[in-house]
Amino acid sequence: MAKELYNTPNLDELENGPWPSFVTGLKRLAQDDHAGASMVRDVLATLETSYVTKKGYWKGGTVGVIGYGGGVIPRFNELKDENGDYKFKDAAEFHTLRIQPPAGMHYTSDLLRTMCDTFVDNGGSGLIAFHGQSGDIMFQGATEETTQTIFNELNEIGFDMGGAGPAVRTGMSCVGAARCEMSNTNESAALRTLVNAFLDDMHRPALPYKMKFKVSGCANDCMNSIERSDFAT
Ligand code: SF4
Repeated sequence: MAKELYNTPNLDELENGPWPSFVTGLKRLAQDDHAGASMVRDVLATLETSYVTKKGYWKGGTVGVIGYGGGVIPRFNELKDENGDYKFKDAAEFHTLRIQPPAGMHYTSDLLRTMCDTFVDNGGSGLIAFHGQSGDIMFQGATEETTQTIFNELNEIGFDMGGAGPAVRTGMSCVGAARCEMSNTNESAALRTLVNAFLDDMHRPALPYKMKFKVSGCANDCMNSIERSDFAT
């Protein structure tokens, strides 16, 4: 059964106004009955503390899955009491898995539901971003232990880890020839060719700095390849 939420008067303010609020979304997740719900509740409490103290409490670290050198963004909670115990222990870890999207961002409703179920049924918080600025599907809110399980399950349904750190990063392509009259090429095939050629450099960071490619099928550049990648195709 869902635990009661902490008082978050500062965050509550962000629910006012005409726009959808991320706080409302997080509260809904926190009051759900999946295993990762209490993680979201404690993330809200950590964030409320940040609004009061004007300090951030998340630090990086090293978390990964077997066989990969990147793709996970680790976040450890530094908010502890005078005895060194976590103030909000269910949010002691809140790691993000970066998962590569399909070329042209094509999903079926069934697949989206399966991805959501896979995340929450394996201990994830339920917070997912389609897509982060990196282009990845961001599964936000996993522990070191559940990161591996969640990845295994996502891999089982055909998804692979994206890039992070000094590596070739996750590529993206516009929807292009699939349903856009402006398309001048086969964008999905171009992306697939690049992914196949650079997959090892995505999974095992070995560069001095990150490197990104994005594929747009015409000069409209819906993928912002020119502004947001090193190799605009
Ligand atoms: S970049 Fe061009 S081809 Fe691709 S979706 Fe946009 S308008 Fe269409």
